Formats: sequence, C-alpha cells, structure tokens
Amino acid sequence: MRLSALFLPTLKENPAEAQIASHRLMLRAGMIRQSAAGIYSWLPLGLRVLRKIERIVREEQDAAGAQELLMPTIQAADIWRESERYDAYGKEMLRFKDRHDREMLYGPTNEELITQLFRDNVKSYRDLPKTLYHIQWKFRDEVRPRFGVMRGREFLMKDSYSFDLDFEGAKRSYETMFTAYLKTFKRMGLTAIPMRADSGAIGGNLTHEFHVLAETGESGVFYDAAYDELAAKGEIDLEALNRLYAATDEKHDPNGADVPPPERLRQARGIEVGHIFYFGTKYSKLMNAVVTGPTGEPVTVEMGSYGIGVSRLVGAIIEAYHDDRGIMWPEAVAPYKVGLINLKSGDSACDAVCDDLYRTLSEQNVEVLYDDRDGRAGVKFADMDLIGLPWQLVLGPKGLAAGIVELKNRHTGEKHELSVESALARLTA
Ligand code: ATP
Ligand code: MG
Repeated sequence: MRLSALFLPTLKENPAEAQIASHRLMLRAGMIRQSAAGIYSWLPLGLRVLRKIERIVREEQDAAGAQELLMPTIQAADIWRESERYDAYGKEMLRFKDRHDREMLYGPTNEELITQLFRDNVKSYRDLPKTLYHIQWKFRDEVRPRFGVMRGREFLMKDSYSFDLDFEGAKRSYETMFTAYLKTFKRMGLTAIPMRADSGAIGGNLTHEFHVLAETGESGVFYDAAYDELAAKGEIDLEALNRLYAATDEKHDPNGADVPPPERLRQARGIEVGHIFYFGTKYSKLMNAVVTGPTGEPVTVEMGSYGIGVSRLVGAIIEAYHDDRGIMWPEAVAPYKVGLINLKSGDSACDAVCDDLYRTLSEQNVEVLYDDRDGRAGVKFADMDLIGLPWQLVLGPKGLAAGIVELKNRHTGEKHELSVESALARLTA
C-alpha cells in the first residue's frame, strides 16, 4: 500500500478524551474514530489489525476442533424469556421493537441463540460432543464506556459453546479451550494468566478469566510469582499452571491452591481478554436441550461458553507494546510488516529504487506500507514510529549513492546499513 493513497488520518496532538496509551495511540495512528460513546468505526489500518487478531483466534479455534458458524446480532426476546434472563439482564441489554411490535434486542452474548439452534437440530448423543463458535459484534450498554475499544458498547467477541453428554466430556471440552486460549494469546505476543474466577454456585474451578498484565488494567489480580517463570519458559504446562495460585480476589481461591507466602504473591492490574465458563445444564434445562442417550434415555446436555474480546485485544496488545513515540506491533498482528520510507520522494533516482523495492517485496508477499509522500524526513520517521510497523526500511540520496539502505527494528531500535539485496533477503526470509 502506498501511504499517499491510504486513508490514514493521523493526529499530531494527544486527543483530550483519551486517558490511556492504547486509546490515545489508536486515535493518533488513525486506526479508529468514535461515532457515539463506546461505538467506533474501524479505519483501514485498525481493521487490518482487528482482522489479524481474528484470524489467529479462528485458526486456534479450528485447531481445537471448534466449528465456526455465524449467528445474527439481532435476537428475539422470546428465547431470553425461556432462559429467564430477559428481565435479569437489566439495562446493559439494548432492547427495541420491530414494526410488528415484536420485542427484539441486540445480542450481548449468545447462550440462548446457540441453545435454541442446538435443541432444534441435534437429537442424539451420537452427534456429541460439539463445540460451535462465531466471531460477531455484541452490544452492551455499559454504564461507563471508556478506554476506547477496551470497554466499548459495541465490540467484537469470539464466543464458543460446547455441548457434551456428561460432566467428564464437558470438562474435556473446557480443558481443550483452556489450552487453545493460552496458545491464541501467545501467538499475539501476550502472556495471559488464567485466573480462577468466582462462578458463584457452580463450583469455581471451572471458570477462568484470562488477564494480560498492564498498569492500566481494570481488574486487580493476584498470582504466584512462579507464573512469571512458567511464562518465560514458553511451553504450556497445563498441570503446572493449575497448581499455581492466580485469582482476581486475594482471599478467594475456589480451586484450593495455596495462597503463596507474601514474598511470592504478586499483585498487579490485569486486562480481561478472555473468559471461559462451565455452567452445566443451566440453559439446556430451561430451554429443553435434550438428546437421546446411549440407552434411549433423555439426557439434558452439559454446556460451557468461552469468550475472547477480539476488539479489546487490539487495545490490550498496544498497552503491552508501545513507547513514547508510538506503537510497537508484534509481527503476528502488525497491520504491515515493513514501512518503506523514501526520504526524498520526487527525486527520480530515489523513486526508482524505492518503487522497485516496493514491487519486489509485494511480489514476495511481504506486507509493505510505502511512504511515498512528499514531505520532510522528520515527519515520515515520526509517523512510521507512531503506527509502529515492526520493520522500517529507509532509503535516501546518500544511501543510494553508497548503495545501502537502512533497516530499523521498531522494537529494539537497532539499525543496520545493508545492501539492497541483503535487506530484501532479511525481510523475505
Ligand atoms: P468485563 O468484566 O470486562 O466487563 P465480562 O466479564 O462482562 O467483561 P464476558 O461476558 O466474559 O465479559 O465476555 C467475554 C470477553 O469479551 C471478555 O473477557 C472481554 O475480553 C470482552 N468484553 C466484555 N465486555 C466488553 C466491552 N464492553 N468492550 C470490549 N470487550 C469486552
Ligand atoms: Mg468475563
């Protein structure tokens, strides 16, 4: 993509309404614009990141055996009456009537709709287990939408739902998702700590919230220092993870893991990027999701639900990866891999080499954003640092004369002067 053509309205000044880095940087880097409180348009640069996150989430769901479908954003109130949540849900649910005076709502979540789909279409234990998911916009009329996409009113969520014949099966489905979540966040460069969450009556060891540590997180979290070591190791050791203490409430550990001694108890702030939940027959009982079991008897299915805040993740990744000049995207979710900076657009020799680099990289499927605009070098450097592509490839008249380009790593700040060929070799490796 040529920067001269890209719809990328960057801002020089910090917008007054943004209180945290990710919100500030998403506005300044031209990724989003607010249309109403907690409701955003995703501009081209922001959308590319959102799509990359979505793709990672999808790949890991598919790898875990979940099947994608797509449910609508608008739902009928009836099924929420069946589950007895219509009144209970309160003001966070956006309700309205259609022209025939039927009560409708914009879905805040999809347990009811998926349970209805299941009970109308699955009749036998032979069709179990099943985990179904979709990636769809949700609306929750949050009291205090804030921090940009972190707590929006309209937001993109991946929500999966598992259906099993018995508790053992449900537990397996839960553990499969648990592992899939750890892999998903890791691929985005995030360490997400699974915190035992309080699920009230159901028995707390089968609900976890996944939190990314960040000073600006909205939740207080407590965890065993051993997590830091485990995270550094790289491998996912489910058993070891489960033995360690991690909770959103210091006094409460539903799984019974020992609260570590003070020197090992870490207290921090966390951003909830995922939440998994086993809830047994809560919905299947009320909504009559029953299959025929192996001996012909009716069995009310066991369910779980598993959410990931896809749009919130964009903000969470920026909270984890930025400096005072801008964003520093991990390569897996970067809107482009390389920013190619022509220091002297309009100079025919510079243009020729840069155009050529741009073409070669594009042909090799390297995603490049090519700053071909007229303008000062300082502005180009500042914009490229702001939008945070992992690599910057810089070419000006001086380098050209010496036959070299500069390759800069946005994360480390390291710069290398290379021949055009070796720069290309590195970026296409
Ligand atoms: P929170 O405690 O942050 O309000 P929640 O527990 O109500 O979230 P869930 O119902 O567990 O949210 O939804 C699954 C995921 O969707 C959450 O883990 C979070 O990442 C994301 N999410 C929830 N609410 C919002 C929101 N208002 N804006 C953006 N993402 C959200
Ligand atoms: Mg939650």
